[in-house]
Amino acid sequence: MHCKGFSIIGGGVMGLSIAYQLLKQQQQVTIFHTPKSTTASLAAGGMLGAQNEFHAPSPLYPIALESRALHPVIAQELYDLTQLQIDWLPTSLIKVATSQQAVPQLKNQFHFLASQDATSIDWLDGQQTRQLEPFLHDEIAASVHIHQDYQVNARKLMTALWQAVKQLGATIIEDEVLAFEHHQKKITHVHTTTTRYAIEHVVVATGAFTTALLSSLALRCPMHAVKGECVMVKSDKPLKHTIFTTDGYYLVPKCHQQILIGATSYPFQQDDIVTVSGVQRLLSKAMAIMPALKDAHILDSWCGVRPQTMDGLPIMGASPYINLSLCTGHYRNGILLSAITGQLFSQYLLGDKTAKQRLEPFQFARFSS
Ligand SMILES: Cc1cc2nc3c(=O)[nH]c(=O)nc-3n(C[C@H](O)[C@H](O)[C@H](O)COP(=O)(O)OP(=O)(O)OC[C@H]3O[C@@H](n4cnc5c(N)ncnc54)[C@H](O)[C@@H]3O)c2cc1C
Repeated sequence: MHCKGFSIIGGGVMGLSIAYQLLKQQQQVTIFHTPKSTTASLAAGGMLGAQNEFHAPSPLYPIALESRALHPVIAQELYDLTQLQIDWLPTSLIKVATSQQAVPQLKNQFHFLASQDATSIDWLDGQQTRQLEPFLHDEIAASVHIHQDYQVNARKLMTALWQAVKQLGATIIEDEVLAFEHHQKKITHVHTTTTRYAIEHVVVATGAFTTALLSSLALRCPMHAVKGECVMVKSDKPLKHTIFTTDGYYLVPKCHQQILIGATSYPFQQDDIVTVSGVQRLLSKAMAIMPALKDAHILDSWCGVRPQTMDGLPIMGASPYINLSLCTGHYRNGILLSAITGQLFSQYLLGDKTAKQRLEPFQFARFSS
């Protein structure tokens, strides 16, 4: 079997966003995909935390801001094409210090964000925070209101992207890629569980599963899985903003009175078990932020594995193999970064010099220098 054009391994938000943009450019695209119970994109909170996630200058910061701004555009495009909503919601984010001890850390982040754009954030004391969100705990000492860190529904985004790539003519091969065949530094074939496919250019977008896959090429990918669990509840006490604590827990208000509670963090774990202790931690963190959640109904719980690199930046660009590109390692921000990554990465694959330059800080080669 011969796959013409671009072959993408991995049907998470990265693989699908790249496929979507390539298909819009009339490229031929094959997606190799095997469903995994810990696919990060199906587990995500859907926050577009472009400012929330940054405490210091980073080459990823301007890209994150750009991606956040692109999401409503992609949401509209996907709707026009598929008639599917992805619930892009302008529920801005409040980052809270749950105790006095956490205030200095939050203040430092506030100063950094204000040095970049003072108009997009506000510093609030505890009382001002509770004026915005009356059900928050009395002990919340201070917060930063980030006006434009909105959200989408990650699962709906995935459904819409799948539908879009199918409508635009992608070939979908529902099979796991197990190995590559190469001649010198050129990949000639990929092997799945059943078939050998000749390929022209291959993009590896397999999230936290990348390390195992690349080991068949003797490529050491400095990345590990970070398992995270979430719980969904339904509450008649409304929340209008995403609430994010300085220690990384969050409440994200979804449609139909639902609130997503996230997320635990277990480095080097990649099983698909939601544990009692994980759920207990999430619920007690949630009630410490918003005591009224004690009466909420538990609807669902799940987990996924985030792909984290050694230096925290994603890997986007070339590999030591001339026709194999890598797009992985987006850790806690893959939903946020998917919009711009799809655009930039597809332009890079089509030879655009500016896109190549912008992806320079994220090259795989940085780990070998
Ligand atoms: C609990 C949790 C909460 C999160 N919350 C947010 C959030 O609020 N905002 C945000 O921006 N990000 C969030 N993230 C991070 C985000 O989900 C990830 O960064 C992003 O989904 C990574 O996408 P990906 O496509 O690289 O990987 P994945 O979504 O894991 O997709 C990789 C896909 O490749 C497939 N695959 C793997 N190996 C093979 C193979 N050999 N052959 C064929 N197919 C293969 C897998 O089945 C999988 O579906 C969260 C993550 C978790 C776990």
